[in-house]
Amino acid sequence: MQEISIPGTIIDEMIAHSERLNPIESCGYLAGKETTVTKHYEMTNVDQAHDHFTFDPKEQFSVVKDARNEGLQLQVVYHSHPESPARLSEEDLRLLQDPNMVYIIVSLAAERPDLKAFRIQDGTVSSVAITRV
Ligand SMILES: [Zn+2]
Repeated sequence: MQEISIPGTIIDEMIAHSERLNPIESCGYLAGKETTVTKHYEMTNVDQAHDHFTFDPKEQFSVVKDARNEGLQLQVVYHSHPESPARLSEEDLRLLQDPNMVYIIVSLAAERPDLKAFRIQDGTVSSVAITRV
């Protein structure tokens, strides 16, 4: 998947979630079918840190279950970068290793929020185009 379609309402929700938590990193999941996102799950960053995130395992379990019940795939893991650009950090590259997942960064470093999506396969990063639908 080199492109992903995300409803404008969900993009706005991700940005609002990230701005609400700023300067703590936000994190969450997007789920849907094929290349279209239909559902947003805000997650708790148990690290409560400004430069990394960890999902709450219990929340993660219930999201996996909910998506499965609705016949949706977890397609995207997103997190915010309160102080740095929308690029994968060294730590992101070390920790984010699911080749089937699209990783989105919501950067709040500039005046306007910036979103970029990536895929990481065999240590190679490629860009994924986000289409707002
Ligand atoms: Zn990051």
